[in-house]
Amino acid sequence: MQQVLSNRVEALSESETLKMARMARELRAQGHDVISLSLGEPDFDTPTHITEAAYQALKDGYTKYTPVSGLPELTKAISEKFKRDNNLEYRPEQIVVSNGAKQTVYNLCQALLNPGDEAILFAPYWVSYLEIVKMAEATPVCVYAGVDQDFKPSPEQLEKAITPKTKFVIFSSPCNPTGTVFTRDELQAYADVIAKHDNVLIISDEIYEYINFTHEHVSIGSFPNVKDRTITINGFAKGFAMTGWRLGYMGAPKFIADACSKIQGQVTSGASSFGQKAGAVALMSDLTPTDNMREAFRERRDIVLNMLEEIPGIKTNLPDGAFYIFPDISAFFGKSDGITTIKDADDFCDYVMTNAHVALVSGAAFGDPNCFRLSYAASEALLREAVRRMKDVLARLK
Ligand code: PMP
Ligand code: GLU
Repeated sequence: MQQVLSNRVEALSESETLKMARMARELRAQGHDVISLSLGEPDFDTPTHITEAAYQALKDGYTKYTPVSGLPELTKAISEKFKRDNNLEYRPEQIVVSNGAKQTVYNLCQALLNPGDEAILFAPYWVSYLEIVKMAEATPVCVYAGVDQDFKPSPEQLEKAITPKTKFVIFSSPCNPTGTVFTRDELQAYADVIAKHDNVLIISDEIYEYINFTHEHVSIGSFPNVKDRTITINGFAKGFAMTGWRLGYMGAPKFIADACSKIQGQVTSGASSFGQKAGAVALMSDLTPTDNMREAFRERRDIVLNMLEEIPGIKTNLPDGAFYIFPDISAFFGKSDGITTIKDADDFCDYVMTNAHVALVSGAAFGDPNCFRLSYAASEALLREAVRRMKDVLARLK
C-alpha cells in the first residue's frame, strides 16, 4: 500500500504526557508496582455539588445540542467570573466554551495561524502548544528560561524574538510544566513589550489559576495597554478536578471568538450540555472545595521539594503554583550504574521508570532537555514512596 497517512500526522508527536501515563498503565497491567507522577490530573474527585448539578441537568432534560459557543447561562457565568476574579471584560458573546482547554488552543491556532506565521512560546512550554502550532503549519519560536531564571524569560528576550511574522505569544501562569507564577510587574513588563507591536496577540492560559500558592493571580488581559489583544484561556479540569468532563473556555476579541466558534461548529459543535450546566454551577458556587485542594497541593509540594533537595544533583526552584516540580538534573548526565549511562533527560526518566518504577515526564517534551516534570497530584504516601525509590536508584549512578 502507498503511504496512507497524511504528512501532517506523520510529523505529529504523540503527547508525551499521555504517552508516559499510558506506559505506566501498561507496566502496571504486567504486574509492576508503578507509581505514576506523569499526568497532570488532580487525584481528587469532582466536588459533589458539581456532579449533583450534572445529574439534575440530565433529569431536567439537558440532553440536546447546545449553541456552539456554549449555553447562554454558562457564557454569562464565565463573563461574570472573568470580571469578579480577573478584572477582565469579556461580554458573553466574546466567550467560547470548548471540549477542554486543549480544544480552545487548537481552535485558536487554526483560526489565527497561516503557514509561515510565527508563534512565540515561553519555554518550558506545555507540551501540546508546540504540536498544535505545528499542525497549523506555523513556526514555533521558543523564548527559553531555565531553572536559574526561575523559568521566567526576560522582557528583552521576548523583544528579540518578535518579528514581522509573529502572530501571538502564548504562555501559562501558573505554568505547566514549571509551576512558575508570573507577578504583576513581570506580566506588565511583557505587556509593555508586546504593546509596541501592533499585530501581536497574547494568549494567556490561566487553567491553573486556582492552584496558586502566592494568593495573587494576575491576568495580563486586565492591563489597559493589551486588553484588546489578549485572549484568556481557562477551564474546569484543574481547579475543579474535572479533567474527564472535557470543559474549557476562552474570552477573546469578538471576531476571534466568532472565528473559533466557526471552526468548532464544523468539528465538534458545543461541549456536552449537562456538563455545561454543571460548569455554570461550579463557577457560581463557593470555592471552599477548590481552596482545600489547593492547600493539599501546597503541602505535597513542600514534602516533595524537601525530599528532592536531599538528593545530590537535583536542582529545583520554588514552584508557586500548579502541581508540578521541574527539577534540573543535568548533573547526572554522563553518569552510569555500570549498565546504563544517562545522556539526557529522556535517559534519566527511562532509568527511573525501569529501576524505580516511577513514571515522570522528560523535560525534552516541554522544551527543556535538562529537566524532568514530576506531577505531585498524588497521595502523600505515594509521593514519599516515589521519591524514596528515586533516591535509592539515583545513588547507584556514579
Ligand atoms: N493548558 C494547560 C497549561 C494544561 O496543562 C492543560 C492540561 N490539562 C490544558 C491546557 C488542557 O486542559 P483540558 O483538560 O481542559 O483540555
Ligand atoms: N495537561 C495535563 C498534563 O500536562 C494532562 C495531559 C494532557 O492533556 O496532555 O499532564
